[in-house]
Amino acid sequence: MSRLVMKFGGTSVADIDRIRNVARHVKREVDAGHEAAVVVSAMAGTTNRLVDWCRDAAALHDAREYDAVVAAGEQITSGLLAIALQHLGVAARSWQGWQIPILTTDAHGTARILEINGDELVRRFKDRREVAVIAGFQGIHRDTGRITTLGRGGSDTSAVAIAAAVQADRCDIYTDVDGVYTTDPRVVPRARRMNKVAFEEMLELASLGAKVLQVRSVELGMVHNVRIFVRSSFDKPEDIDPHGTPPGTLICNEEEIVEQQVVTGIAFSKDEAQISIRRVEDKPGVAAAIFGPLAEANINVDMIVQNVSADGATTDLTFTVPAADYERAEKVLVSSQGNIGYARIDGATDVAKVSVIGIGMRSHAGVAAKAFRALAERGINIRAITTSEIKFSILIDAAYTELAVRTLHSLYGLDR
Ligand code: ASP
Ligand code: MG
Repeated sequence: MSRLVMKFGGTSVADIDRIRNVARHVKREVDAGHEAAVVVSAMAGTTNRLVDWCRDAAALHDAREYDAVVAAGEQITSGLLAIALQHLGVAARSWQGWQIPILTTDAHGTARILEINGDELVRRFKDRREVAVIAGFQGIHRDTGRITTLGRGGSDTSAVAIAAAVQADRCDIYTDVDGVYTTDPRVVPRARRMNKVAFEEMLELASLGAKVLQVRSVELGMVHNVRIFVRSSFDKPEDIDPHGTPPGTLICNEEEIVEQQVVTGIAFSKDEAQISIRRVEDKPGVAAAIFGPLAEANINVDMIVQNVSADGATTDLTFTVPAADYERAEKVLVSSQGNIGYARIDGATDVAKVSVIGIGMRSHAGVAAKAFRALAERGINIRAITTSEIKFSILIDAAYTELAVRTLHSLYGLDR
């Protein structure tokens, strides 16, 4: 017997038929003797509609009331799924964030979970064999008791947090893809589904735009060591052996991964912009004068490359920001030109970042060098490079993104 958390996203609960399908997935696990807590998202499209209504009511609105509105979507699905389960003869009860309670910070719209007491849920597994159907995405502020939400995509985080609170053996994320791939299969048709990926690698992949999971849910899984299994909700519930290993990707501790490859995945993003500041003075305080105002403007800076000046006087500094923030960043820099002191700013928005990720890089030399050679052979010019322990990223012209991703995917033996 295992204790499972099962999470179903918006497309998996898009209508009553799909909710019935989810109920059959849950019944399968319960019939196999497992204890189950189910976390649900709002029905597909619902949260967007609720967000639009808030904006319609007033462009600038009270974040507490925004949360009161947008949390409603999950309330509906949790009740509907409990009804569908009861109809199949499975004992089930719905739970809203305030009923458990899921205590959060007061950052309305992007709250963080502080504490969940899973005792009552566990007691009901034991005493009544009752399935807990939990509204994802929502909690309450610890001090005021007001409803909060966890940011878009937040029900993944709810699910992992619940799994930690009830000490589940696994947190199954049922979604519209059957796992995490070595790269986007739309760009590389030979991309493979990974059987296992380490938390740290998944954190990089998710931060770099693999949309399967909210980044925070991976962080939480890593901290509490919750094994997360990404799998498809479209497989027929009856076709799945509840004791077997279904197709999917397990996100787990690296110790659990026996056949560790050097490179496990390749991520890319075209939503990047490059900013180069020419002839900044090479003296203490310049970086602070540049990045301080950008941080104050809430602009996320990613790759940063600065050269050592040849003449000891001035140098160039290049960094990237999200393409959507490019113009704002430029304005901030222009308005602090007096303070920073530079000759001019050059920028480009037709750039892309390609990242190669793998825990094996820690212990292997020359992984990046191999990539540089392969890209050079294809005539791809590299504008900037950054590295960390388990990743390196290159900035290139956006037109070469697909070619670069395909080249690196085969180079590191990831092709199916
Ligand atoms: N319903 C929320 C959203 O659309 C939370 C989630 O689906 O994870 O963002
Ligand atoms: Mg989602």
